[in-house]
Amino acid sequence: RFIVLEGLDGAGTTTQTERLAAALRADGHSVVTTREPSDGPVGTMLRQALTGRLGLPQGRGPLAPETLALLFAADRTDHLHARVLPALEEGKVVLCDRYVLSSLAYQGASLPMEWVDTVNAHAVSPDLTLFVGVDPKVAAKRRAVRGGPAELFEADEAQRRIAKQYLKAITLREKRERIVRIDGELSVAAVTDACLMEVRRVLAR
Ligand code: C5P
Ligand code: MG
Repeated sequence: RFIVLEGLDGAGTTTQTERLAAALRADGHSVVTTREPSDGPVGTMLRQALTGRLGLPQGRGPLAPETLALLFAADRTDHLHARVLPALEEGKVVLCDRYVLSSLAYQGASLPMEWVDTVNAHAVSPDLTLFVGVDPKVAAKRRAVRGGPAELFEADEAQRRIAKQYLKAITLREKRERIVRIDGELSVAAVTDACLMEVRRVLAR
């Protein structure tokens, strides 16, 4: 089964992915955790681009939004073939930190969402997507506590826009696949419990 966690930067998807994995392993499942941008070649390049470490020649501008969107889609193809699909074939539970919804929300903030949706048509649908929802102000506070280098798209203004895009993306996609909203402002343990309930329901099917 293929389970995806989604949310703003600071929503807690990375923390919850790890906590869910631990709980599911305790249930006896074989679990693989992974993330996008992936650790493959295109994903590594994307992480460099997002933190301004791409080493572009002096004087040339950043990658255009369309270029970034296509790279995210290419990373997704690579990640599916290299990691996700093989693990699913082996009967494992795959927990993925971000997937297509992130592209619709982040790249869809500067491009027509339908176009982003189309370039991701190759991506298999998850069995379940958990959207960990938090107010952009709460997410900003958590990012400030966490520290680390500021990434592209992490400015408060951009995050407010992306929060709206997430809601639009969910409306677009929930007709085709299972997406559940989780209140990400609850305690860390309560969010894990809420996610776990949904995941167990899907795994029991
Ligand atoms: O989850 P994490 O914060 O590590 O993701 C790195 C960044 O990649 C996100 O903050 C977001 O800015 C960006 N991203 C994106 N489009 C995606 C996935 C991630 O812009 N499809
Ligand atoms: Mg982040």
